[in-house]
Amino acid sequence: MASRTGRPFLQIPGPTDVPDSVLRAMAAPTIDHRGPRFAALTLRLLDALKPVFGTGGPVVIHPASGTGAWEAALVNTLSPGDRVLFCETGHFATLWQRMARSLGLDVLFLPGDWRHGADPDAVHRELAADRQHLIKAVCVVHNETSTGVTSRVPAIRQALDATGHPALLLVDAVSSLASTDYRHDAWGVDVTVAGSQKGLMLPPGLGLNAVSDKALRAARTARLPRSFWDWAPVIEANRHGFFPSTPATNLLYGLEEALRLLHAEGLPQVFARHARHGAATRAAVHGWGLDVLCADPREYSATLTAVVLPGGHDADHVRALVLDRFGMSLGAGLGRLTGRVLRIGHLGRLGDLTLAGTLAGVQMGLRLAGVPIDPGGLDAALDLLRAP
Ligand SMILES: *Cc1c(COP(=O)(O)O)cnc(C)c1O
Repeated sequence: MASRTGRPFLQIPGPTDVPDSVLRAMAAPTIDHRGPRFAALTLRLLDALKPVFGTGGPVVIHPASGTGAWEAALVNTLSPGDRVLFCETGHFATLWQRMARSLGLDVLFLPGDWRHGADPDAVHRELAADRQHLIKAVCVVHNETSTGVTSRVPAIRQALDATGHPALLLVDAVSSLASTDYRHDAWGVDVTVAGSQKGLMLPPGLGLNAVSDKALRAARTARLPRSFWDWAPVIEANRHGFFPSTPATNLLYGLEEALRLLHAEGLPQVFARHARHGAATRAAVHGWGLDVLCADPREYSATLTAVVLPGGHDADHVRALVLDRFGMSLGAGLGRLTGRVLRIGHLGRLGDLTLAGTLAGVQMGLRLAGVPIDPGGLDAALDLLRAP
């Protein structure tokens, strides 16, 4: 490996680069999680989290990765054998429905081509055909991190409303929350699943659920076995700022600082910055003469871009070159996309010049690997970043 100076570029779509002030906040001494200082911290955090989810309801923080929050969403609201509808948007949707099967749910998995988001018309058809209301939940990955496609959650909600179907709406917002406009309450989402290591700019280790009243009611009768993931004792202890078991105290220090950064910049500004960085990244990709994986411009992700390598070129070779020569990590193709795409993460607290450096590194890597590209791609991105 070449010797390098400068900060490593972590441009995978999560974990994201943790801002220095967040790292410093986490370096404070761990305190008693049953004491008054901790209780005050929890109450502040739970308040500051609500606008990020766009909810007035409870947010449950689990000491877990996003996968734990997936499980919590399912086991708190559903019963053995319940039918649940998933949309095959990519690798993460595939993993989540696999978990649902392993928990004993009856999964209906609507096929997809991994280039589009969840299809509201297909969801509408399934719900309309389900006259007996056997489907208990519709589960959608908002931002499919394996493909760079953002599903139109309001259109899915519309499909539920138009058919008058009472199913719950469970949404994975792990790689969109705090980076993309997201409205748990206004979109009628029942459970939102999130994690700490993406838009929230923290290390991995927190899994979060925002929970609607309807989901809380469902939790009273849901019979899937649950203990650690049970929301009820957490929500009860949270009322006084505590948790039933030991929380990830230092990650919560980091969360407070991350939320301070987000609110100081302003959520609309944070969302606009991500949208702009997504547009600049696509300008580079199209300028290089390559394709982004996302096939529908309405569904372009603001937080990551999957770049399709021309046939015969191995995306993992490009990634290895970029890591070795320039110290930058890029996202691999996952599942059936292995070797075929590389993913550029542009979420978290990155500025224009970090993105410019990222795209310069990708362009150099593509050229080193002998991928035929037009080097005007970088200029196209810089033009967009330079515009006021
Ligand atoms: C990262 C991610 C997950 C999984 O989270 P882990 O923290 O790895 O358990 C789930 N869904 C999406 C969309 C993700 O991007």
